[in-house]
Amino acid sequence: METTELTVDRLANLNTGESGVITKVLGHGAFRKRITEMGFVKGKKVRVIKNAPLQDPVEYEIMGYNVSLRRSEANLIDVLSGAEADSQKLNGFNGIISDNVLKKTAHEKSKTINVALVGNPNCGKTSFFNQASGSHERVGNYGGVTIDAKMARMRQDGYLINITDLPGTYSITEYTPEELYVRSHIMERMPDVVVNVVDASNLERNLFLTTQLIDMNIKVVIALNMYDELEKKGARLKFRELGEMLGIPIIPTVAVKGQGIKNLMRKVIDVYEDRDPIVRYVNINYGHDIEKSIDILRKELDKDERLIDKYSSRYLSVKLLENDRTTLSMLKNRDNFDRINELTNREIARLEKAFGESSETVITDAKYGFVAGALNETYVESRERKRKRSKEIDYFITHKILGFPIFLFAMWLMFQATFTLGNYPMEWIDAGVGYIGDFVGSHMAAGPLKDLLVDGVIGGVGGVIVFLPNILILFFFISFMEDTGYMARVSFIMDRLMHKIGLHGKSFIPLIMGFGCNVPAVMATRTLENRKDRILTMMITPFMSCSARLPVYVLIISAFFPKNQGMVLFSIYMIGIIMAIVVALVLKNTVFRKSVVPFVMELPPYRMPTLRNTSIHMWHKGVQYLKKMGGVILVASILIWALSYFPRNVDYSQNYDASIAQVENSTSLGEAQKQHQVSQLEMAKASEHQEQSYIGRMGHALAPVLKPLGFDWKIGVSILTGLAAKEIVVSTMGILYQAQDEGNSGTLVQKLQQQRHTTGKLKGQKVFTPLVAFGFMLFILIYFPCVAVIAAIKKESNWKWAVFSMVYTTGIAWLVAFATYQIGSLFV
Ligand code: GDP
Ligand code: MG
Repeated sequence: METTELTVDRLANLNTGESGVITKVLGHGAFRKRITEMGFVKGKKVRVIKNAPLQDPVEYEIMGYNVSLRRSEANLIDVLSGAEADSQKLNGFNGIISDNVLKKTAHEKSKTINVALVGNPNCGKTSFFNQASGSHERVGNYGGVTIDAKMARMRQDGYLINITDLPGTYSITEYTPEELYVRSHIMERMPDVVVNVVDASNLERNLFLTTQLIDMNIKVVIALNMYDELEKKGARLKFRELGEMLGIPIIPTVAVKGQGIKNLMRKVIDVYEDRDPIVRYVNINYGHDIEKSIDILRKELDKDERLIDKYSSRYLSVKLLENDRTTLSMLKNRDNFDRINELTNREIARLEKAFGESSETVITDAKYGFVAGALNETYVESRERKRKRSKEIDYFITHKILGFPIFLFAMWLMFQATFTLGNYPMEWIDAGVGYIGDFVGSHMAAGPLKDLLVDGVIGGVGGVIVFLPNILILFFFISFMEDTGYMARVSFIMDRLMHKIGLHGKSFIPLIMGFGCNVPAVMATRTLENRKDRILTMMITPFMSCSARLPVYVLIISAFFPKNQGMVLFSIYMIGIIMAIVVALVLKNTVFRKSVVPFVMELPPYRMPTLRNTSIHMWHKGVQYLKKMGGVILVASILIWALSYFPRNVDYSQNYDASIAQVENSTSLGEAQKQHQVSQLEMAKASEHQEQSYIGRMGHALAPVLKPLGFDWKIGVSILTGLAAKEIVVSTMGILYQAQDEGNSGTLVQKLQQQRHTTGKLKGQKVFTPLVAFGFMLFILIYFPCVAVIAAIKKESNWKWAVFSMVYTTGIAWLVAFATYQIGSLFV
């Protein structure tokens, strides 16, 4: 058979009518994924339908479909094609090379792998290069020996591997010519696989470079070189686990002796062929401040599709935030450069203000935090070294045993402070709300409008706003723990436990966020890669008692547990956590049977947060809370008030007005007695009216279900209204329990303490015993999260899970409250 002149070229360079077979898809992972999903995979034949020099997009036919690709996309696809003239001459198929020949040659061509060696100076790259290729480049033990890139080729398992030895660098930034060289080689020449040579005896610093490769979202295999040194030191590295965490296969090598190189190249081939199971893109978590800036920049960069074909927008964003001049000048010609530049400067300024350090330092710290976290779990030091480290704080805080009491103490402290510190401003606001209510009450003419303002708006919203200080304090603590780096440690010590319930420590961060608000917590599950992890975490997040539930607890605890406030609050939160564990265990063993994918848990350096930054975080939440107050809570308060106010005409069991008139006109009674009896009658009337109001009817309809829990119908109504938002539970109680005895002003707490059943077997007895109060808090903790959370769950998963979480939480809430009341009654 004649030989055909076949060449590998970029798809964008083929002319109209020409066809070729794909040999390679270049570019970063996200691009490759997108393009392969469109059908552009190795070995497939593509034909150009229309490609004019200035035309964009270009039209192609692949697998019988017409697809258009941007020129920039087609420029990242290698195809094998025959020059038209040659093919016409060599075979008579009207200028078209037979598919078989083309495919066969393409298959061979696609078996060429371009590999680049990247690593710190003196990590053994050149030794590796020499052993692999058989060439004899000079091996030195000082930096800077490899000035230029050297190329060599080797064959293995039917593949031709071109190896490039790049200069050694500690980082791929822009400070030295070597760094720039390595960077442009990776970004512009786009090797198929980067072999990251890592000095096993100096992992922390070497893996820093790895984090930069991770950001680039390219194919990497790690050569864990100088493995002999590591073993000699008596240290141990669980490199398989580490590789799974980083999403990069790790192969130990001893380059000078040529050990492990065959293995490594086998891995390179696997990774090149996309058949290594542990390869995945790992998002290095930079912490919420930086992540927010990354998001902002990404949104802008993503607008330029041609740009993100070639570079991962996350990578570019990180680079911009590092104040990287090269990236900035590379973007100079882009249409939206001014906007990018402006956003970059703004975000850098924001970060530097927040951290009090250069943004680059902050990002570097975060990367080291990632490395430290990965190593903390996989690297076992020799014994002598360990003792030295024991002095460090982390030894205690992430200690297997000590870590937990420290964490529990921190939690207890947080809840204790929420009460003790929160009490003072709470009293002031309470007094203020009371004053406004009295003022409006005494200055307005009686009528529905006055009732609406005093009982509906001021009673409902006022009842909730009182808790603003508590919420701010809670958020202050959460922000403080996040900003110091303690939160990361918590997820670290939780990792072991989380594994037991089928999750890993990373899920702990959304869970802790849940203490603030479940909505962002559910959204934060997005950072988990595995869908099952995401859903399982979402399902248990609502058990993390959010700040909206705090007002209910504070109210009930103030009223019925004056002695052990902090302790009771703490126990409620703990019960929530225990519930989460139990549910996770059940789900893990039923719906979510799976193996756990390991993740790196970042251990960022400890940092004293600036009061400014923590205050900003706290303030942000405070504003959100107030907004919610003005919106849904105000509307709900008015609605609930209206439902309890109407209908105005009800059939009373007795003629109260006549009785009141009778008492007032009585001659046998003294003034004081008269007044007492009148107010008794008025209260009875108001209470009866409320029971017959719309909301009263709803509450009574619910009563049979709630009776076994010891709840009265007003509690039932409060629970019902809490579906919209849990703060409304307090508003509702404020309206229902407050309105009953006008004139007799007393705090809601006092009213709750005096509340008695008005119907049923328990008529006349106090509604709230400590037992009922506790059961009620548990019910509020566990049942239906709130509309916003359900919406978030639906958005992050699907309707099925949203409905499931509504139903099962409410079911469990009922069971728990039932057990509390029934079992508790046996003892109290
Ligand atoms: P490069 O700067 O990354 O190219 O590193 P070189 O290949 O020049 O090696 C630096 C030094 O480390 C040389 O003295 C090598 O002999 C030594 N070396 C390289 N690989 C290994 C290894 O696997 N084990 C040990 N013990 N030494 C190694
Ligand atoms: Mg070298």
